[in-house]
Amino acid sequence: MRSMIKVFEDFDLARVGHFQSVLSAAGIRTLLKNQFMSSVMGEVPFVEILPELWVLDDRDAVRARELISDLLARPAPDQPDWVCGNCGTEVASVFSHCWNCGRGSEEFTGH
Ligand SMILES: [Zn+2]
Repeated sequence: MRSMIKVFEDFDLARVGHFQSVLSAAGIRTLLKNQFMSSVMGEVPFVEILPELWVLDDRDAVRARELISDLLARPAPDQPDWVCGNCGTEVASVFSHCWNCGRGSEEFTGH
């Protein structure tokens, strides 16, 4: 029996949204809750409206939390997202290979 599990919540909707895109790129199906509520801040109690990131399949929860803790442990600034030289897909910096075509980020930088 599959069930949804909440893996992250934060006041910063941009961060929650970023984590969702990273998990999606890793093949994990996710759901964002409360993403629209922050725009009506003041009309509902603030503590009730934390944007929440859920995984749709509890079997993905462990991997999702690992990815999130990685992101939290080393923030992005030093590792900007890169564009795949093969297919042009924008790839999150946490990945060393293009999620779309599988090419490694080092294969076209020429080092
Ligand atoms: Zn690619």
